[in-house]
Amino acid sequence: MQVAAQKVVTLEYTLKDDQGEILDSSEGAKPLVYLHGQGSLVAGLEKALDNKGEGDSFEITVPPEDAYGTHNPALIQRMQMRRLPDKNVQVGMRFRVQMEGGARFLLVTAIQGDYATVDANHPLVGMTLHFSVKVVAVRDATAEELAHGHVHGADGHAH
Ligand code: ZN
Repeated sequence: MQVAAQKVVTLEYTLKDDQGEILDSSEGAKPLVYLHGQGSLVAGLEKALDNKGEGDSFEITVPPEDAYGTHNPALIQRMQMRRLPDKNVQVGMRFRVQMEGGARFLLVTAIQGDYATVDANHPLVGMTLHFSVKVVAVRDATAEELAHGHVHGADGHAH
């Protein structure tokens, strides 16, 4: 079976940066299982997976504009320290916070008095991503998975 919209795809992958450093990998962890055609993966990777078959392996370089975009200065803001979830805030710390449109990771870039400067850009913003990918399995999504827009079962959401 081939990768297409409305298929559930199981992937093994390794993600590296321009220096060859591993940023993320399914090796030693669970493979990635996702519903294709929903924008679950970065756009460049999802596009490259179209029409690939079970057992196919490939490498792809995804530029920032097809991954996490370019750095957006509007996502830098000042916050009162007491609104941050940790009392011992230091420059360089990251926090997961719930914001409009979902969870965001905030990077603390400066602290001045009672205020912290935080950057909500994605940690991989502006980066060219190098993926090694193997398509492990492809199956049809169930009607329920399509209705929910995500994968169910052992590898997906339990509910
Ligand atoms: Zn569901």
